[in-house]
Amino acid sequence: MKWKYASVAFMLLLIAALIAVPNQTVFALQEYDTAEVEGRVIIIHSDDFISQHSENAYYLESGEGDFYRLVFRGDPLLIPDSIIRIRGKISGQQISVDGENLVVIRLPEPDPADNNLRVLVIMFNFINDQRKPYLAEQINYTLFEGTFSPNNFFQENSFGKVSLSGDVIGWYTIDNTNDVTCDYGLWSQAAEELAAKDNYDVNNYDRVIYFFPSSEVCNWAGRGQLGGDPPRKIWINGENWEQLYAHEIGHTFSLHHSGSLDCGFRAIDDYANCIFSEQGDSYDVMGNRYHHLNAPHKIAAGWISPESVQEIAKSGIYTIYFPLEAQAFGTQVLKIAKPDTNEHYFLEYRRPIGFDDLLSDAITEGTLIHVWDGISASKTKLIDATPKTKKYAYDEALSDGSLFYDRINRISITQLRHDEDSVTIYVAFLPPPCYLCDKIGPIGLFIDPNILQQVS
Ligand SMILES: [Zn+2]
Repeated sequence: MKWKYASVAFMLLLIAALIAVPNQTVFALQEYDTAEVEGRVIIIHSDDFISQHSENAYYLESGEGDFYRLVFRGDPLLIPDSIIRIRGKISGQQISVDGENLVVIRLPEPDPADNNLRVLVIMFNFINDQRKPYLAEQINYTLFEGTFSPNNFFQENSFGKVSLSGDVIGWYTIDNTNDVTCDYGLWSQAAEELAAKDNYDVNNYDRVIYFFPSSEVCNWAGRGQLGGDPPRKIWINGENWEQLYAHEIGHTFSLHHSGSLDCGFRAIDDYANCIFSEQGDSYDVMGNRYHHLNAPHKIAAGWISPESVQEIAKSGIYTIYFPLEAQAFGTQVLKIAKPDTNEHYFLEYRRPIGFDDLLSDAITEGTLIHVWDGISASKTKLIDATPKTKKYAYDEALSDGSLFYDRINRISITQLRHDEDSVTIYVAFLPPPCYLCDKIGPIGLFIDPNILQQVS
C-alpha cells in the first residue's frame, strides 16, 4: 500500500508543480530549439458538413523547399501565399509560434487567370479496405459533365473565365491501412507514386483530387488547399457529390467560408452581441447550399472586375444594374464602408438564373448584404436584413420599401424598387447624434430612420 500513497503524493506534487510553474517554463523543460524561418503560407482546410465543423492546418514552405507545420495558440489571420517570417520553437517539422513573432513580409500577388483548369482525380483504396465505390466514369460525369457538375458551376460563376476538365484514374491500392489514423498526406503520396508508374505526373495539372472510400478515421468530408503552387490539392472522403467538390475547389481559389450573422432583433450590431455561423450562408457554395458564390468571393476570385463595383460614400439613390449571375457591363456590386470594424458592406442582387434557379422570391426580389474585410481568404458574413422574422425564414434580403439600419455607423439602406435585372436603393449617412444639437436643440438626436422609407 505504501507505494500507492507515495505515487499519489508524487502525482499531487507534480500537479502542484504544474499549476505553480507558468506554462512557458514547462514548455522550456522540453527540448526545443528556437528557429527563425521565412516562407510562404499554405493552408489545408478540412470540412465536416454534418457537424458543421471545420479547421485549418497551417504550413510554411521555406525558400529551401522545406515544409513546416505551424502551431499557434489561437486561430491566426494568415493569408495563403503571403510571405511571412516567424520565430518559434522547432521540433522536427513543426514550429510553435507566438502571435508577436510573426511578420508579414509580402502579401500575395493576385492569381493569374486560370482559364481551363486541368484536374487529375486519383482514386485509391487500402490494403485492408479494397472497396471501389465508384467507377471512373461516374466521377468524371459528376465533376466535369453533368448539368450540376462543378465544371458547369464554375463556368457560370466566373462568367466563362474558368472551366474544369481532366482525368480520373485508379483504383490504386496503396500499401497503407485506413483503420488507425487519418494519414491522408502519406496516403496521397503513396497514391501519387502509383499513378506516376502509369505516367500520370501531378505536376502537369492545376488541381489534384485524392479520392478514397469513406473512412471513419477521417472526421471530415473533404479537405482543400489554400495557397501554394499548382497542383493545389483536394482530399475527398468517399462521397461523389457535386456540392462537396465545388466547395473544396472553391477553397483552392483561396476562398474561405460564407458565414452568417445573427444579431437578434437587429440586422447589425456590435459583434459582441451577434452570433457568427461559419457556414451559415445558405445562398453560397462556400456556405451550406449549392448556389452562386457571393459578391465578395467573386471579387476575390477576380471574376467581378473593379469597374463593376461602385463604392458609395455619400447619401443618394443608387442602382445595381446587373444581377450577380450575369456578365456585367456596369454596376453589379455596391460597396459601403463599415468604419467600426474596418470592413465594407457589399450589396448584390440575385435572380433565379442557373445555379440560383431555385432561390425563393424573398431572396431574388431584393438586395442581399454581406460584410467582408477585403482579404481573399477571410470569411464573409451574410446580414439578415429582416431580423424580425424567424432565423430560418430564408428571407435575409431587403424588399421594396424595407430598411436596413446600422445604428453604430449611422448608415441606412432602403430598397426603393426592383425589376428583372436591377434593384434601386437609397443610402443615407446620418449625421452624428449631436451634429446639430447646439443649433436646433435635442430634436436633432431623433432622426427616425423610418422616414427614409418615404423617399422614392
Ligand atoms: Zn470549407
